[in-house]
Amino acid sequence: QLQRIAFIGLGNMGAPMAMNLCKAGYTLQVFDLSAAALNKLSEAGASIAHSAQNAVKDAQIIISMLPASTHVENLYLSADTGILSHIAQDALIIDCSTIAPWSAQKVAQAAQARGLAMLDAPVSGGTAGAAAGTLSFMVGGSTESLERAHPLLSAMGKNIFHAGDHGAGQTAKICNNMLLGILMAGTAEALALGVANGLDPKILSDIMSKSSGRNWALELYNPYPGVMDNVPASRNYSGGFGVNLMLKDLGLATQAALAGQATIPLGELTRNLYSMHSQHGAGEKDFSSILECFTVKQ
Ligand code: NAD
Repeated sequence: QLQRIAFIGLGNMGAPMAMNLCKAGYTLQVFDLSAAALNKLSEAGASIAHSAQNAVKDAQIIISMLPASTHVENLYLSADTGILSHIAQDALIIDCSTIAPWSAQKVAQAAQARGLAMLDAPVSGGTAGAAAGTLSFMVGGSTESLERAHPLLSAMGKNIFHAGDHGAGQTAKICNNMLLGILMAGTAEALALGVANGLDPKILSDIMSKSSGRNWALELYNPYPGVMDNVPASRNYSGGFGVNLMLKDLGLATQAALAGQATIPLGELTRNLYSMHSQHGAGEKDFSSILECFTVKQ
């Protein structure tokens, strides 16, 4: 008998992740603020709840996939609409959102105070990885909870890492995404330089993919429109990983650098590039649109 899951947050990542759990045979109760997101999951066989509190009723596993720390803290801890007090005693909570490590620890402690186990389990792999069920999970929390979560994480992902105690999954994710932001900005800058000097972006991408500049942004998520099919750059930068979400993650990296007295000059520079890009109105576009900062509009 597969477990009953409450899944909250059905955006670019949450929707395909929840679909994979449906396909694997789990019973899902889903909730999102967007009716369109709910309808998509209803067609895939999930039952729609009319509030988050309703969704977690009788659930054995709770999964959340929300934008940022405030959304997650509100979902679990809000005095009137918070779900923590509505979750069954033997249930396991898995938050897959990318949030501050200290925020993940705060919610895990509040859960623990009610006798509930919680994991932070942010993901990497993008919307394509979410759809293909090949995400990487970076997990913080106890080994026992991770063992319990393992089968359903395997239904959504391919690589499952235990980073350490509560919040450690988030710290790993923040390091990864700071590097991703730097790689995307650097890749866009190099492609724009080539094009400004007469190169074809596809030919330049082929060359660098087989040379020492190769990286994930270049090879799997090319920021130059028309170089690759099925990436946000080839659909007007829609439907991927939002600029404002990358900006949030780079802000978390800055906060983590202050907390740990680490030096992150490239991370800070990249955060400022994304901040300018967002302020010029690109906040909702995919993060590969950072290319627009380097291209001259004719
Ligand atoms: P998204 O903005 O597409 O989706 C967020 C969803 O949460 C939306 O459908 C929204 O309606 C819903 N929501 C917001 N508040 C809610 C609430 N109180 N109750 C119920 N639903 C609520 O974001 P996304 O791209 O799916 O990202 C989700 C998280 O995953 C973020 O933390 C992001 O940083 C992280 N992430 C994203 C990607 C990516 O490629 N998009 C990759 C890895 C990690």
